[in-house]
Amino acid sequence: MTTRTNTSTGPRTTPVTVRVPAKVNVQLAVGAARPDGFHDLANVFLAVSLFDEVTATPADALTVTCEGPDADKVPLDRTNLAARAAEILAARNGLAPLVHLHIAKNIPVAGGMAGGSADGAAALLACDALWGLNTPREELLDICAELGSDVPFSLVGGAALGTGRGEVLTPVPAGSFHWVFAVADGGLSTPAVFREFDRLAEGTGIPEPQASPALLTALASGDPDALAATLANDLQPAALSLRPSLAATLDAGLGAGALAALVSGSGPTTAFLAADEEAAAKTAAALEASGTCRATRIASSPAPGATVLPH
Ligand code: ATP
Repeated sequence: MTTRTNTSTGPRTTPVTVRVPAKVNVQLAVGAARPDGFHDLANVFLAVSLFDEVTATPADALTVTCEGPDADKVPLDRTNLAARAAEILAARNGLAPLVHLHIAKNIPVAGGMAGGSADGAAALLACDALWGLNTPREELLDICAELGSDVPFSLVGGAALGTGRGEVLTPVPAGSFHWVFAVADGGLSTPAVFREFDRLAEGTGIPEPQASPALLTALASGDPDALAATLANDLQPAALSLRPSLAATLDAGLGAGALAALVSGSGPTTAFLAADEEAAAKTAAALEASGTCRATRIASSPAPGATVLPH
């Protein structure tokens, strides 16, 4: 537990809402499995303008509710990353987590877009403001890393290179880009996709994961053709192996004029880079008509990290 002088105005009685973005990995380089089972990664995260909102309200007990198209797939118990964030922050400060967390969910669930991680980061920031804690940024980032590898990036947003398990972040410059995301039926479990990666890689030499200098230059330039030529996801063959139907979705987007198509993170959401806003709308319409996905979302990048909304 840490003690600190509370310089804020103290706990709030009115709700606090935090908006938090989804992410796409424009590069996901995966190393060999480590003895602890994790993989070293070189991970270029990009936050996109698809947002969840988490509202924290004072309550008699820790409770979670969720609304949105995928709400029935979100656990409402203590396994929800938003609830875990509240518990960890409260325990560190000697408080009881007396908060109701409401998640307005727009990020696909189990879709490889870090939706759960986003809610963890959002709940952390919301509870910090609700309880008037003014936790230093470094400590918030530590708690995020404890919650999961993708959670620190949800707090930071923008674009960043993640190393280690993906949680050691270095911000990188990014121009603006337009994206279409195709939401698949059902989710894919991230650990299962890593296990399939290990199975497919058995007996092959896996190089040390490294960020691609060409990709980082393209990302900074804002040139969609340059970025399209460098997008790379080492988990894509594993995701396609577990969900072969994703190949048809990728083809449909490319056939509709997307500059590049890739599986987002561990999938099964697929991401399509568009030349501009108009091309994104056309690609989304063609993907919807193709019948190869459940829904599409249009987004731009980079997006800011978790942000407290004005009340
Ligand atoms: P990542 O890209 O970080 O691997 P993901 O986007 O594939 O994650 P999530 O949407 O985070 O996947 O969901 C993965 C699982 O986490 C869900 O199946 C669900 O059981 C659990 N989960 C815990 N908290 C949440 C939350 N707040 N929102 C969604 N899922 C959650």
